[in-house]
Amino acid sequence: MEKEKKFSKVKIAVIISVAVVFLCVAVFVLVLVLKPGFRYKVKSFFNSEKNEVALTAMTAKELDTEKVEVSEFIKWENVSFNQSMMLVNKEYTLSDDYVADISEYKTTGVMMNSCMRDDYSDMSLDIIDKFDKKLFVMSSYRTAEEQEEISKEQGEETAMKKGASEHQTGLALDVYITEFAGAGFINCDVGVWVNENSWKYGFIIRYPQFKEDITGITYEPWHIRYVGFPHSEIIYKNSLAYEEYIENLEIGKFYEYDDYIFTRQKGDEITVPSGCDSYVISEDNTGCFIITGKR
Ligand SMILES: [Zn+2]
Repeated sequence: MEKEKKFSKVKIAVIISVAVVFLCVAVFVLVLVLKPGFRYKVKSFFNSEKNEVALTAMTAKELDTEKVEVSEFIKWENVSFNQSMMLVNKEYTLSDDYVADISEYKTTGVMMNSCMRDDYSDMSLDIIDKFDKKLFVMSSYRTAEEQEEISKEQGEETAMKKGASEHQTGLALDVYITEFAGAGFINCDVGVWVNENSWKYGFIIRYPQFKEDITGITYEPWHIRYVGFPHSEIIYKNSLAYEEYIENLEIGKFYEYDDYIFTRQKGDEITVPSGCDSYVISEDNTGCFIITGKR
């Protein structure tokens, strides 16, 4: 009799435990299905170490290259000199005489770096096509004075001090859609899509999850930053912070990816890959140039 009682108690405990576990799993799955932001965060937790692109550093000797003065190179017809690769943070601040190459985006009053207008336009048009939603810009280019003002108002913890914010380059955009702005941007389908697909248009999530120790800034799903191709793709596919990407590019070495060949060079005389259809050269704000050739 005693034994039977004990047995039924154990049975009840097992049934309750199984029910609790089942309920927890059901709630987890439900949240996963209903909350795109939660789904994205779980997915990116498992993808935080992905390393899909293997880059091999090559020397100039292994390739067809030529030496040229930067001042001459930027005169070539197929060379565009822009600011797309600027690394800006507390360590690499903008000099006082830095002038951002900005212009108005369409007739919106939004000022952004000229090098990214076309790609941003493509992305926002694709978002309208896919979601029937309009992507807005909360904050884009800021002058040094405006950044100083914001930093004083909000404190350096929240807003970077003058020279340390990439908003001063016009390459960064804080984007949102109606009802989903700031940290809440990731809680809508458009926010998740921007975080997962903006690399296809040359953008990166500049302050990604799980990289706070490197960027010094907590995850900002709304802050997109232009770097151009193929850099945005490599950064996304290798789960890198922009700091890591720049540091990994050895000075004087060359890297191939798809139709692209790129190199990080120091000095006024640079070695560039020969025979590309077009080139982009940009300073990286660490004292080097990054030259990207497209074949
Ligand atoms: Zn921002």
